[in-house]
Amino acid sequence: MSSLVFLPAALCWWALKNNNNNNNARFLAADAPHSGHWLLALPVTSCGLRLTDEAVRVAVALRLGCSVCVAHTCRCGVLVDAQGNHGSVCKQAPSKIDRHQAVNDVIARAITAAGIPVTKEPVDLTILGIKRPDGLTLIPWQGGKPLSWDVTVVSTLADSYLHVHSTSHCADSAAETASNRKETKYFSLPPDYIFQPVAIETLGPPTHQL
Ligand SMILES: [Zn+2]
Repeated sequence: MSSLVFLPAALCWWALKNNNNNNNARFLAADAPHSGHWLLALPVTSCGLRLTDEAVRVAVALRLGCSVCVAHTCRCGVLVDAQGNHGSVCKQAPSKIDRHQAVNDVIARAITAAGIPVTKEPVDLTILGIKRPDGLTLIPWQGGKPLSWDVTVVSTLADSYLHVHSTSHCADSAAETASNRKETKYFSLPPDYIFQPVAIETLGPPTHQL
């Protein structure tokens, strides 16, 4: 694991050597604030923080643009190349739901550990006619209002973000776009609640709003 501290330097070299949108986006994401903090996490199994060797292999390969798998056809019919980027955008990938729930669990655990009780996917807010957010504090968070949040994880290298929202030119632009989309979605949330979007890119950068 200690050799991973050289990852940003390796990415810099790789991006300069192979200058294209994908590699630019990888380098910018790796260089963005907080995106490398996963390397500093203590590998505590009970907190879900211990990565398997295979998870580390995939995480590093995705960031370096190395081969992750053998090219094959996905269950959705799309041809997956050796870099395996399709895995983070495939709508039929079971990992998409697991990834979302894992991030939501970490947030709920962190707030609970601070002594603030929470509920995940609060039913009461569904009754108000809006889509249900991922979590809600059961006591006031700020200004007498409880906090609700909604998580989204978006792929730094998805074509839509790479070419339309320019992750190849601006780090965290995908996270910012996703965060704004959540704000719009929950615009009708009653003023009795504080809403916090939690948008994170697959290669690390979180939205500035966190
Ligand atoms: Zn697929």
